[in-house]
Amino acid sequence: MKLRNIILSADDIPRQWYNILADIKMNPPLGPDGNPISPDALAPVFPMNLIEQEVSDKRWIDIPEPVLDVLQIWRPAPLVRAYSFEKALDTPAKIYVKNEGVSPPGSHKPNTAVPQAYYNKEFGIQNISTETGAGQWGSALSFACSQFGLNCKVFMVRVSFDQKPYRKAMMQAWGGECVASPSMETKAGRDILEKMPDTPGSLGIAISEAIEAAVSDTSGKTRYSLGSVLNHVMLHQTIIGLEAKKQFNMINEYPDVIIGCAGGGSNFAGLAFPFVLDKMNGKDIAIYPVEPKACPTMTRAPFVYDHGDTARYTPLLPMHSLGHNFIPPPIHAGGLRYHGMAPTVSQLIVEGLITPRSVSQLDSYRAGVLWARTEGVIPAPETTNALACVVEEALKAKEEGKEKVIVATFSGHGLLDLAAYDKFFSGELTDVSLPDETIEEGKNIFKDYPKPQRLQSR
Ligand SMILES: *Cc1c(COP(=O)(O)O)cnc(C)c1O
Repeated sequence: MKLRNIILSADDIPRQWYNILADIKMNPPLGPDGNPISPDALAPVFPMNLIEQEVSDKRWIDIPEPVLDVLQIWRPAPLVRAYSFEKALDTPAKIYVKNEGVSPPGSHKPNTAVPQAYYNKEFGIQNISTETGAGQWGSALSFACSQFGLNCKVFMVRVSFDQKPYRKAMMQAWGGECVASPSMETKAGRDILEKMPDTPGSLGIAISEAIEAAVSDTSGKTRYSLGSVLNHVMLHQTIIGLEAKKQFNMINEYPDVIIGCAGGGSNFAGLAFPFVLDKMNGKDIAIYPVEPKACPTMTRAPFVYDHGDTARYTPLLPMHSLGHNFIPPPIHAGGLRYHGMAPTVSQLIVEGLITPRSVSQLDSYRAGVLWARTEGVIPAPETTNALACVVEEALKAKEEGKEKVIVATFSGHGLLDLAAYDKFFSGELTDVSLPDETIEEGKNIFKDYPKPQRLQSR
C-alpha cells in the first residue's frame, strides 16, 4: 500500500507560530497625515492584544492553550500525496497538498478566526463585526465566535450573497448574523447605494461597513476582525507550513516548489513563510503565490501605499494594489477578488524571494475537475487557481525529466460552490482578462500618495 496521507499525531501540533516580521524589513502603515501611525490609533478597531501581535518582531509566538484545544477539532491537518493526479498528468513530479478543507467551515480560515475570537474574548469584547467575500471568512468567524461565546455580524459582498445562499445559513447555524453589502446599516453602505444602487459590491466596500459598525458602537464592546492581509493573520496561518515541515521530515522529503492561491495572501503565506525562512538561510526553493488573471494584484499592479477599504477608513498599507476603488469582475473565485495584497507578501515579492503567477479562470476549473476525478475531493474555486499552477509545474517537470517535489495549499473544498461548477459544465464561464487601460486608470489615485521605499532585508 502506498502512503497517501501523511498524518501527525495530535501531540505533534505546533505550539508556536512563526512571525516573519522578525526576518524582513517593512514600510510602516501610515495615517491620514502621511506619518507612521502609532499602534494606539488602531485601538477602536482591534483589541490591544492583537495589535501587539500585528507589530511584534518576536520570531516565535506561543499559541495559547485554549486556541490549541479548538484547533484540535480538525488539526493537525493531513499532508496528501496526490498519486492519482500525478498519474493523470503523467509527470515525474511528486505532488503534495496540505488539506485545509477538513476544518468545520471547509477552509484554512478558522486557523486565524479561532485565535482572533480568543484574543477578543480575553480582552473583554462581546461582539465582532467583519466582512466576507465568498462567505468562507464569515462562516469561519461565526464558527470561532460560537466556540468562545461571542456575537458575530457579517457584511457579505452582494454578488456572493446572491450566488451562495447556503453560506448565510451556515453562519446562522453557528449563531452569526449575515447582511448583504452594501447595506443601509452604515454610512459607507448608504453612500455607495445612492451612487450605484445595482452594484455587485466588493470586499473593499464590505470592509468599510464592518469597520464602521465596530467603531460606531459607543459601548466599546465591539471590535472588527479581518480574515486576511494583516500581519497577525499571516502569523496565525503559519501553523499550515509548520505542520507541513514536520510531515515532510517524517517522510525524509523536502519541497522544491511551493504554491498557494492568493486573494489577500493568507493561505499562501501560511504554507510558504516557514519555508521562506529556509530560503533566506540558503535553501533553493521556488515559491509561487497564484492569482486569477481577472484580479491581477501581484502580477500587474504597482507596489504602492493604499487603503485596505473603499471608504478609506484603514491606514495606508504598503502593498501591491489595483486601487481601493477597484471593483473586480464577478468571477467565481470570490475569495480572490481583493484589490490589494498582504504587505508581508508584497514585500517578499519586492525582494525577489517569491514569484507571483496568474492563471485563467477556465484553466483553473479544468485543473479543479481533474482533481475531483482523480483525488476525489471537489476543490473550492479559489483552490483551483493553485491547482492550475501545480499542473503547469508538473508538466514543466515532465518536459525537464525532473522528479521535483511540489507542495500546494488545498485551501478549501468546494461543496458550497457547486453553482460555479454547474456554470462551468454548461459552458457559461468565460476567461476574464483586464485591459491595460483599467489597470492604468487604477494607478491614477496613487499620484498624490506617499511612496513606499523598496527595502531589501538582506
Ligand atoms: C478566502 C479564501 C482564499 C483566499 O484568501 P487568502 O487570504 O489569500 O488565503 C483562498 N481559498 C479559500 C478556500 C478561501 O476561503
